[in-house]
Amino acid sequence: MKNRILKTALLSTCTVVAASASYGLIPHKNFEDSRKQEQERLISSKINQYTNYASTATPPPKQAAFSQDLEHTVKSGENLSSIFSELNLSREDLHKIIHTNSTGKQFADVIPGQDVVATVDAEGNLEQLTYAKNPFETLVATRIDDGFDVKLFSKKIDYQATSAKATIHSSLFEDGIKAGLSEKIILKLADIFAWDIDFALNLQDGDEFTVVYEKLFVDGKEFDTGEILSVEFINQGKTYSAVRFEDNQGHTGYYTPDGNGLRKAFLQTPMDFAKISSHFNLHRKHPILNTIRAHKGVDYSAAIGTPVKTTGDGKIVFQGIRNGYGNVVEIEHGQKYSTLYAHLSSFKSGHKIGNKVKQGEVIGYVGKTGLATGPHLHYEFRIAGQHVNPLSAKLPRSLPMDKALMAKFKTQTQPLLTQLQKAKGGELLAKN
Ligand SMILES: [Zn+2]
Repeated sequence: MKNRILKTALLSTCTVVAASASYGLIPHKNFEDSRKQEQERLISSKINQYTNYASTATPPPKQAAFSQDLEHTVKSGENLSSIFSELNLSREDLHKIIHTNSTGKQFADVIPGQDVVATVDAEGNLEQLTYAKNPFETLVATRIDDGFDVKLFSKKIDYQATSAKATIHSSLFEDGIKAGLSEKIILKLADIFAWDIDFALNLQDGDEFTVVYEKLFVDGKEFDTGEILSVEFINQGKTYSAVRFEDNQGHTGYYTPDGNGLRKAFLQTPMDFAKISSHFNLHRKHPILNTIRAHKGVDYSAAIGTPVKTTGDGKIVFQGIRNGYGNVVEIEHGQKYSTLYAHLSSFKSGHKIGNKVKQGEVIGYVGKTGLATGPHLHYEFRIAGQHVNPLSAKLPRSLPMDKALMAKFKTQTQPLLTQLQKAKGGELLAKN
């Protein structure tokens, strides 16, 4: 066990030093001497591997200058406490680091795949703990007196506008990937137009879109994508445009170029990428009961466990079993509107009657409880108590933008819309 850790430490020493060096400011104990000590360290470690201290009468002399890095990649199911146990580090030190301040608390949120590096002295006592939260933020706890000095070091992120253009031949997802977009950007694009375009059902061969979005760089290296800045989607010959705007309170949202919010009071569909298996029909023959029975909702077929989202902000007024509907959630949206979600396999944990929910929030999971031939969601929409077809009903938009903000809106969005026009004209923005 010890040997394995030592070997890992030896292999990783160089990369750790390099990573620390690029921060420049990290107050790494012995950091200045680390290059010189590299040789000594390698030799000492080798000796350690073959020395059985337990059999010697006296413990080896203390070597204050000796320290080594134990590198540990976080695995799924692990937390900092289990990692401390595995590296034989003191629980008391863990407690001290976590409770130093709010920065120290962040050490508790280690994510699988990221590296924790513990620098220990010859006796295995922790000198410094380092955790790279992401490509631009590193947490460092350094021992001082009887506690730890905990700091978060951040690198500067460079944002760069870039663009992509695509024509739909199979699906938003596949054609988006082909155009070089990340999954994240494709999902964001679908979210922006969620109130206007049904990406699961109404895309047509030849539909096209142009998107201007951010790429994020650290140390000149691209590591992620950021936000969509402006976008245009032509669906079945109709053009939809959106531009990002941040108001005086720092709230961001997407608007049409003339300043109308894209958000509507209700989403088109309660699920991502679902297929309609049965439409709203007041004269349908029931598939199980075999009698004429109005189908007062829309059925979406999807695999068991697919998340179901509330289509509007509201309050849960029913959550439980209701005869042929199986597990049901019913939500009231103000005085006038209500929606119902049936045949669920289970409810979102923690939700109960009386809870407020936000548009798009998961409320349960697709199932086949009650009278259902297969897994699907039965979705109903009522206006003033009357069932209506949610796919054709006139649904309200959210409030338009405050007039006082229009000047700021124009100044902020004009450059983004200009970039969109350039990208549309084939003048794709710099990839670099
Ligand atoms: Zn149904």
